[in-house]
Amino acid sequence: MLENIKDAVRKFLTGSTPYEKAVDEFIKDLQKSLISSDVNVKLVFSLTSKIRERLTKEKPPSILERKEWFISIVYDELSKLFGGDNEPSVNPTKIPYIIMLVGVQGSGKTTTAAKLAFFYKKKGYKVGLVAADTYRPAAYDQLAQLGSQIDVPVYGEPNNTNSIEIAQHGVSTFIKNKIDIIIVDTAGRHGYGEETKLLEEMKEIYEAIRPDEVILVIDASIGQKAYDLALRFHQASPIGAIIITKMDGTAKGGGALSAVAATGATIKFIGTGEKIDELEVFNPKRYVARILGMGDIETILDKVRGLEEYEKVQKKMEDLMTGKGKLTLKDVYDQLVALRKMGPLSKVLQHIPGLGVLLPTPTEEQLKLGEEKIKRWIAALNSMTYKELENPSIIDKSRMRRIAEGAGLEIDEVRELLEWYNNMNKLLKMVKRRRSDIEKLFGGK
Ligand code: GDP
Ligand code: MG
Repeated sequence: MLENIKDAVRKFLTGSTPYEKAVDEFIKDLQKSLISSDVNVKLVFSLTSKIRERLTKEKPPSILERKEWFISIVYDELSKLFGGDNEPSVNPTKIPYIIMLVGVQGSGKTTTAAKLAFFYKKKGYKVGLVAADTYRPAAYDQLAQLGSQIDVPVYGEPNNTNSIEIAQHGVSTFIKNKIDIIIVDTAGRHGYGEETKLLEEMKEIYEAIRPDEVILVIDASIGQKAYDLALRFHQASPIGAIIITKMDGTAKGGGALSAVAATGATIKFIGTGEKIDELEVFNPKRYVARILGMGDIETILDKVRGLEEYEKVQKKMEDLMTGKGKLTLKDVYDQLVALRKMGPLSKVLQHIPGLGVLLPTPTEEQLKLGEEKIKRWIAALNSMTYKELENPSIIDKSRMRRIAEGAGLEIDEVRELLEWYNNMNKLLKMVKRRRSDIEKLFGGK
């Protein structure tokens, strides 16, 4: 089960097993968890060989311990397995917005229709539900009951057996009533293996009501068998998305998610229980962070992000020294914030190459600046306006007072920051001049 991965991460990070051996053990645990949650074996092996390849080809960023780096690679590759950067957009692109739900019987369409209605109602939209399932006995009653629970109108014609007619009537009625989002629940076929009929039926209602979005509802317990169904649906419906239900009730959720992701279809939501609010927007990265253990992974990712941001600022500093432009307080702010993300200063400083650009006399001066001061300076920078950050020369005494008050600091501290900033700019100018002197001397351009 995917839940076991969390324990494996814990064991890996805190255990005393030597790195190489710990990696082997972790990869075995990972494979076991994935396969037992029905992820396709081929996918599992290509995932782990990708991880191993990256371990040999890439270099750990200086700021991470080797074990942390390993977990960050696992996080990355697992995220790709579940859809990568695909963060679904769940906001309607127009009003009225028509959503049509399809899926085999029992997959959770009707429940999901009500969950979606509740989700959008909470966001402030006027929502209407259309009960266009004419196969299932009492289908209308089921939806009507759910609708009354969440106070959402339900359109139905319990005695009409023509589902296409009902869908059309429901949609036009709700459009007349100025409903923002119309959710159409349809009948399902009997089970797995009847996808062809399911897709044909989908097409008929589709032609009749021209929805803005078609959502295929899949029960997670079919595991990797979701692949064929999702693939055909994805190919047949360019405006299609997928919701995987019953993630709470099966060990095969990982299999269903990865299989659907492999088809290129977008998984928009996952259903995590029978209750009306048990629906989550599916974000692959957040999902993976959770199965790896949110706490452990967040600390590592913060460091990585901090380093990335730091390198961006660093690059800008270098540009400043060679080209034109000026160091603004916004640059200083970005740099300080990036530094803080990476961890305790004393530790961070040992690891950062080229730190001397911002503070030319490294460590000694740096450490004097100190944790506390960085915190206070960030507070000061936070209470400046955007204009002040971009153009600090406008900061006069009264602005200084306002900034100090906003940050809970003494006015002298703000002055000190500004002086430091001015010195920094002088230094940059000096470096620039010296560089161009050297270039002249050696005949550079
Ligand atoms: P439909 O035939 O596709 O409309 O499926 P239903 O909406 O009637 O749901 C079939 C069963 O699955 C019902 O008992 C639901 O309560 C249950 N169900 C739906 N979604 C979920 C879910 O996310 N988690 C759990 N545990 N049960 C669910
Ligand atoms: Mg139903």
